[in-house]
Amino acid sequence: MSDKKQFKTESKRLLDLMINSIYSHKEIFLRELISNASDASDKLYYKALQENIQGISREDMAIYLKADKEKRTLTIEDYGIGMSKDELDSLLGTIAHSGSDEFKKALEKGVDNVDIIGQFGVGFYSAFMVADKVEVFSKKYGEDQAYVWVSDTSDGYEINEASLDHHGTMIVLHMKPNTEDEDYDQYLEQYRIEALVKKYSDYIRYPIKMDVTVSKKKEGTEDEYEDVTETRVLNSMVPLWKRNKKDITKEEYDNFYKAKFNDFEDPQRVMHNRVEGNVTYDSLLFIPSHTPQNYYSTDYEKGLQLYSRGVFIMDKCKDLVPEHFRFVRGLVDSEDLNLNISREMLQHDRSLKVIADRIEKRISSELEKMLKNEREEYVKFFNNFGMQLKFGIYNSYGMLKDKLQDLLMFYSANKKELITLREYVDHMADGQTEIYFASGETTNKIDLLPQVEAVKDKGYDILYLTDNVDEFCLQMMHDYDSKTFKNVTQGDLNIETEEEKKNLEEQTNDNKEMIDAIKEALGDKVQDVKLTARLKNHPVCLTSGEGLSFEMEKVLKAMPD
Ligand code: ADP
Ligand code: MG
Repeated sequence: MSDKKQFKTESKRLLDLMINSIYSHKEIFLRELISNASDASDKLYYKALQENIQGISREDMAIYLKADKEKRTLTIEDYGIGMSKDELDSLLGTIAHSGSDEFKKALEKGVDNVDIIGQFGVGFYSAFMVADKVEVFSKKYGEDQAYVWVSDTSDGYEINEASLDHHGTMIVLHMKPNTEDEDYDQYLEQYRIEALVKKYSDYIRYPIKMDVTVSKKKEGTEDEYEDVTETRVLNSMVPLWKRNKKDITKEEYDNFYKAKFNDFEDPQRVMHNRVEGNVTYDSLLFIPSHTPQNYYSTDYEKGLQLYSRGVFIMDKCKDLVPEHFRFVRGLVDSEDLNLNISREMLQHDRSLKVIADRIEKRISSELEKMLKNEREEYVKFFNNFGMQLKFGIYNSYGMLKDKLQDLLMFYSANKKELITLREYVDHMADGQTEIYFASGETTNKIDLLPQVEAVKDKGYDILYLTDNVDEFCLQMMHDYDSKTFKNVTQGDLNIETEEEKKNLEEQTNDNKEMIDAIKEALGDKVQDVKLTARLKNHPVCLTSGEGLSFEMEKVLKAMPD
């Protein structure tokens, strides 16, 4: 007795894509299924630790692969937490997994290179790239009844009662028939499966086992061979971050990053460290090469994966990275954390605080080094994530000024490129005491501001601020290297020479009647009308007082109440 259920619309789209996919990364299906099996084993192990369940040990958990050439099936079996009937329905009936969002958006954006798609973690549905029918047998830990989820089209699936003699999940892939262009038989070949596990899943911390047939010399004979079956562990089980940096290639880091964090681009930066001392840990951190699609939305969650002695504890541990570095992805594995620790307790854990502190310093120093030695790379980074640093200063009411000010860059009117505040100050003109800036929508528009012209004429550089947060950030900083920030469109600039000032005074007196007339005509639209020496090619300009600048007023007005 069973009902055919429909896939949700989004899932159907993704599935259609998987079923008809033409790209060359089909082989990643195995990585995805093994990674799910490993996650499910982690979940059970973690549950056992937390609830003090006896009789569950990591050593007993393994992932089994079995290829049957006659039936053309490949089976992936785990002893993990399993799925209940409802979970089979909800988890496998909808795309909910971590990578799907980025994937969907890339598709919508029309990522034209189909190979790129293969680099996403596309999760369970990737099984349909190689199989035309998928059966998922599963028994939830602690329950008696097992169920099987089966689907052979993108229309829908069925869930039926089934039997499975252990908790966990067994996925049976019925391979597609070979076509002229595609050889699906390859995924039933021992050597091919071994190679795929080595390539993508070597670091999985459970043994991935497979019965392999090998030709062995018959005992007691010279040259007689026989086929024997032995169970082989295909992966080395050493996590990438536990390996020696010297032996890891860039490609290995890149692949690991892309698979683990569902990105289609290599990371811009990799930071891999082992720290020993008061607290001992390994950290593997990445700076992405692009701003994630959802970076500025509420569904972006910051945090690092947390492991203790190689055992996965939690996915997005927020306390490990400060807000201003929330773009950093990666993981931390420490021997000094209690495996039993709850999320609430973790927040107050002293070791965790020490680690978080070190991580923040590590990221800072990496960025400083990049700025110093690889300008172009840094500018690329800053264009992606610089806004976050400015927000860091603003949101902390300037408390983070000392930490972050030398990582900031702003567009320089003179240089026509991004410069640091240090560079600005080092090139200040003789007699210049303030750091000039002007804000606007684009650098071109700022360039046309009447007041900008006069300041540039004096030989002073001006920082052009185009991000909403810029001016707020500078206001929080108040000064840099004891030089205050000065908006060229605001208040008195005091850049006139004594002679110019005297001239202006005289002219003001001479034209008192006209000025008063203008004042009267404008009424309370303006606070004051003054003659100025600031203008060159423009007849008039608007200047705001000492409080909020025009740009800041605009930003504040645009903010939701
Ligand atoms: P993700 O792994 O990113 O969550 P997937 O599409 O790979 O996305 O899997 C979807 C969900 O299905 C998983 O989050 C998990 O809850 C469940 N699942 C998949 N495979 C297994 C498995 N072998 N054992 C238990 N649950 C599984
Ligand atoms: Mg998955």
